[in-house]
Amino acid sequence: MKIHCIDCGLPFEAEVTGSVNVREHPELKDRVIDGSLFMEACPHCGRVNLLGQAFLYNDPDQKLLFWLLPGGNETREMEAGIKARLSASDPGILAGYTTRIVRTAGDLMEKVKIFDSGLDDVTIELCKHVTKMELTGQEQDKARQRAITEAPFKFFRLDGPDNDIEFSYPLDGKMVGARVGFNVYEDCAGIVSRNPVMRPSDPFTVVDPSWIARFIG
Ligand SMILES: [Zn+2]
Repeated sequence: MKIHCIDCGLPFEAEVTGSVNVREHPELKDRVIDGSLFMEACPHCGRVNLLGQAFLYNDPDQKLLFWLLPGGNETREMEAGIKARLSASDPGILAGYTTRIVRTAGDLMEKVKIFDSGLDDVTIELCKHVTKMELTGQEQDKARQRAITEAPFKFFRLDGPDNDIEFSYPLDGKMVGARVGFNVYEDCAGIVSRNPVMRPSDPFTVVDPSWIARFIG
């Protein structure tokens, strides 16, 4: 794939990986999680460029299929093509699979981390919402409350003996963390199980903060 550097503007050739089956290529999974599969340094100026490729993440052991479809016309065609191919094939082919569409490499990295930690992404999105409410409740300053509400929270990791949930998000120009007890996750899991409409029935759903927002008053 030919890339034009976002910094110096010079073209360079980058090798682009379009899909990975992590059972066959477990070594590539690390490159998904650290994002290096989606970036390439410009040979002219050294600036790291995001490749912006469409990508399929396939984990047959955990039965996960994540399509990274960055958006735009090309993506819409690709999305339609994938749906047509899958609906023409054996309807049982996706049975038992968790399938998602994601729009950025960062979102894909987060999905992999969530499911690798044995967690569920719908519950995590609700958990982010609850965590933001808690954080803004402790803030007096209105501008800061808004900054937290609008910040893109990402699942970072499970940590400590009690499996605390750690989120990371940008605030005042730097990345900061928010930590909540696992009981918050369990409470959210309870809410999701009592409200099955929160769980997407369309296998090509983008599960992100706006997905969960539609169920919250
Ligand atoms: Zn460059």
